Amino acid sequence: MKKRYRNYNYYPNKRRKRVKINKVRFTIFILSCVLILGVIGFGFKMMLTDKVEVSVELTEDLNKEEGESLYELSLWWEALKIDDYKEIQITVNDEVYILDADATRFDIDLSNPDDDYTVTFKAKRKGLFFSKKVKEVIHTFADNETIEQSISDVEIEEGNLIFTHHLQKSNAIKIDTKSIQYEAIDVMNQTLSEGKYTITDEDKNEVVLRVEIPIEDLKGAPVVALKMVTDINNHQLSFSIQDKNLDTGALKGEDYELSSGLAGIILVNKDAEHYTYKNHQFYAESLHLNIGTNEEILTYQLVDAARNLTVDEAYLTDGNMAIKLANLKEGDYVIKLNNLPVYTDEALNEVWYCVMRNGATNQVTLKSENGLLYLKVQLVHEVPTDVYDILIDPGHGGLDGGTIAGELTEANEALKLSKYIAGRLEDHGLKVKLTRTEDVDPAGPGKSDYGKSPFYDEGRVEQVYRYQTKYMISNHLNSFDGSLEGFEVYSSVVTDDDWSSRIATSLKSAGQDPRDSIKSEFRISEGSYKKCFVCRESSYEEKYGCLNDTLDYLYIIRETGGLLSQSSELTQHNKNYPTIPDYGAETILIEYAYLDNSKDYREWTANWESWGEAIVKATVEYLGIKYKK
Ligand SMILES: [Zn+2]
Repeated sequence: MKKRYRNYNYYPNKRRKRVKINKVRFTIFILSCVLILGVIGFGFKMMLTDKVEVSVELTEDLNKEEGESLYELSLWWEALKIDDYKEIQITVNDEVYILDADATRFDIDLSNPDDDYTVTFKAKRKGLFFSKKVKEVIHTFADNETIEQSISDVEIEEGNLIFTHHLQKSNAIKIDTKSIQYEAIDVMNQTLSEGKYTITDEDKNEVVLRVEIPIEDLKGAPVVALKMVTDINNHQLSFSIQDKNLDTGALKGEDYELSSGLAGIILVNKDAEHYTYKNHQFYAESLHLNIGTNEEILTYQLVDAARNLTVDEAYLTDGNMAIKLANLKEGDYVIKLNNLPVYTDEALNEVWYCVMRNGATNQVTLKSENGLLYLKVQLVHEVPTDVYDILIDPGHGGLDGGTIAGELTEANEALKLSKYIAGRLEDHGLKVKLTRTEDVDPAGPGKSDYGKSPFYDEGRVEQVYRYQTKYMISNHLNSFDGSLEGFEVYSSVVTDDDWSSRIATSLKSAGQDPRDSIKSEFRISEGSYKKCFVCRESSYEEKYGCLNDTLDYLYIIRETGGLLSQSSELTQHNKNYPTIPDYGAETILIEYAYLDNSKDYREWTANWESWGEAIVKATVEYLGIKYKK
């Protein structure tokens, strides 16, 4: 049974004392209580809350060449006591970034020109409280709005770099001449030297400064970058010292040479060994750096932000090797070749993505900063909508049906198979695109100019560049005179045959034998071929330039490989591409069977799906993804 318990019933005779309340006194009492509680609370919060000093700086337009401005916003602060803090919260407009408590720096690209960005910083303590919020509104400049500047009278005297700096004034950019700092930076050793200046002349159009920066302490540095930091439009802007028309012979008879490009003026040490950056290619998932030397590149090194050597590997010149990007941890890395730094005064900021694995991938930015080449690696969980991992190309289509045998048309069979392969690759988390999903030329209905339409917008070659695909599989069926049978896998002369030989082995396990033409000079291994023509010292030399001795014979392999495979036709047929892109896909072309051979015809009809599955298995394993049935 439940006992009822009623508090007020137990003391029925308790006397009630009535007190008359003085309203004025009562109000004072309540207000005092609120004030005391407030003071205690505030004091308590002050005890648990502290202010973190945060430096906020915007770096000048990193994308001058492209015309679309890109700024880097940097926040940095003294290391927090990690025992006291849980995490750091940074917001940029509506985006919230959570950093570990041991972080001391945050960089983000701001790509909207002439726009306000509201940036806040809070460190969350263990318990309830945040540090005092730091809030700033940063306004980026309009496209191509830069500080016009030039230098003159450059000399080095008694270990000091001395020059005259001319800064043009404009209405849009207000320079606070009292806040200027000059810096000479040795990026490799992360040291900098601060300079002094005097204003020698100033009117409403221009300010002229005589600058003196001690560089004696930076003597071992292969390259020294020159920077200026100043308050502009009420926030700190860091920019490189520039002069579009600088006579690079201006500095004579010294240990240094002046080098001047879009990324600013750098001092190049004549005695310290280094390489000069010339070119790069992103091919498949790798980066190639083409440097201005005849020396062989044997090794490459990546040095992290704390200047620890984190990667030291053999540099393999195969297109699908070079600097391997897919497994790099997040961070900023200085690139070295043969253990020597690579310097440049070019403004580089190129973004590339590796393929999706387990829902994540590396976004890799090749950039130049303070004269050195960097790789910035960020782990992302999605890529831009128009970027794909792999392109599956059903051969032919539209007016061009390809091989016809019995009931079958190559264009339709290749489409059926390609859709199957694409679906199964998507099952493995890859972002897949088909060059066509209907019986049309990918460049559009009615277009099937075999020589040109692949290069038109949405054509099968153009799609590789449009969608930045890292890999491409072109699916075909063969015919001859009825006597030949079996499959052939074609890969590029600029790559090894890892992928193609895996595919050959896998197709064989699925029951299709290779047409293994042992006599063929193009045979690499069983069923795997590299069909090419000799380029150097041939009639092709004029057309292709022939950086390599041989060129891929199949246009779909050669022309989708960007600079590395020496594609050349995109610029001829598509005016949206004034130059050949410096990125390209690793492409293979597979001829599965001879449809005019009765045995191959029967086996294709019965087994095409398991052959498609064989391609999926070999491909995901090649990409380091676990195969799922
Ligand atoms: Zn074909």
